[in-house]
This record gives sequence, structure tokens and C-alpha cells, in this order.
Amino acid sequence: MAGLEFHQFACLTDNYGVLVHDPVSGDTASIDAPDAQAVESALQEKGWTLTHILVTHHHWDHTQGIDDLKAKTKCHVIGPKEEADKINTLDEVKTDGDRFTFGGENVDVISTPGHTLGMINFHFTQSNVVFTGDTLFALGCGRIFEGDPEMMWNSLSKLAELPPETIVYCGHEYTQANAKFSLSIEPDNKALIKRASQIDALRTEGKPTLPTSIGLELETNVFLRAGNAAEFARIRAAKDNA
Ligand code: ZN
Ligand code: FE
Repeated sequence: MAGLEFHQFACLTDNYGVLVHDPVSGDTASIDAPDAQAVESALQEKGWTLTHILVTHHHWDHTQGIDDLKAKTKCHVIGPKEEADKINTLDEVKTDGDRFTFGGENVDVISTPGHTLGMINFHFTQSNVVFTGDTLFALGCGRIFEGDPEMMWNSLSKLAELPPETIVYCGHEYTQANAKFSLSIEPDNKALIKRASQIDALRTEGKPTLPTSIGLELETNVFLRAGNAAEFARIRAAKDNA
């Protein structure tokens, strides 16, 4: 079986879009729809035709392109059951523990509330790729807009249990600012120091710092490394006020 192909592209101010393509069936999914034009350009560049959109959460910078893309391609839109009232274009809803297939591969749905209450993440089990939306970022995590710190800590802990080699794509390029903050929390973390300089080099060249991996985040992400909900809450509050 030929494996799925993943194509990441930057859009809006600091968002990422990702296309997932199955070379066998030709099916192509957009992870979220931050910007219809950017998604269309990426499709054109790759020569792929959109068949699905997989939505992580209701925020505008993840959903505003859905209407346009759906009108043009009649693609099938799958998104979070708990936010179906906020995303009125969903064809199919999913919640924690659901499994569906895309391109012959099992996709496990993991609910990760905190940033929003209904956030879902998609784990492509054979490729071992997870799309974490605005829950887990490289060296960071999403702001807690709708949930509470304990909820977010539990969500991050679920992602931390995925195999360390799991590849992580997320919604934003916030890594350089996250690295700076992380070093204020763990100034002696050698893996973090090394990664921070690699990130600076990548950003100087205008290159993305994503995707990352669960293993790398476990070594360097101060939010994942907090150890318990109370410590996580303290670090999250410090970042919010940084
Ligand atoms: Zn968001
Ligand atoms: Fe976002």
C-alpha cells in the first residue's frame, strides 16, 4: 500500500494548513480550512482534488474557508460533534473514541477540550501522524479560552500517550516565541537549548518549525512536562501574562 502524503503550507498570519492525500484513491483532505484561497493554491500546486475537510474546532481561522471550498468541490466536511452548532456546514460529526477511514487508513478521533470545549484531534494510525489543532503546539499549547487548566492538562496528557515517534502537525507557527518562554521555565534543559537554536536558524531562513513529534515535545515542551494539573496551570498562567 502506498502511504498517505502530507503537504503543509503557511497561510493567514501564522496559521498552517495541511493537505492529506491518498495516491491510491486520489482522495485529499484539508485539515481545517483557514483560508480557501490558500487551500486552493496548495491543491493546484500538488495537482490534487479536494474531497474532505477535517475540522478540529470552531474558531474562524480554522473554519472560514469551509463554505467556499464546499461550494466549489462538494467535499465532505467532518468535524467536532460538540461544536456542530457553531460550524453549520458539517456533513458528519465525530467525538472522542470514534474511528473512521481515510485513504484506507484508520483515523482515531481524540477529544482534547481546553482551548475550546469541543476540540477534536485526528490520529492517522498507520502513518502515525496526529493533527492537534490549537491544543498542542511545538513547545507550546493553546490558550484556554473555553475550558479550564485541568481540562487542558488532561487533553495534553492524552496526546502525550501516543507513541513518541508520532508526527505532530498543529494549527500555528508560534514556536520561536514559545521557545523563548520555555527557556525562562527550564533554562538548563539541554534538549530545549539545542532546539531553540535550531528554531532560530529555521525562522531566519523563513522555514517552518513544524511538524514536530510527540517524543521531541516530551523532551522540550514545558507544558507537557509540567507533571500535574496544578503545575501546568501555573506555567500556562505565566505564559498568558508573559
Ligand atoms: Zn483556535
Ligand atoms: Fe487557531
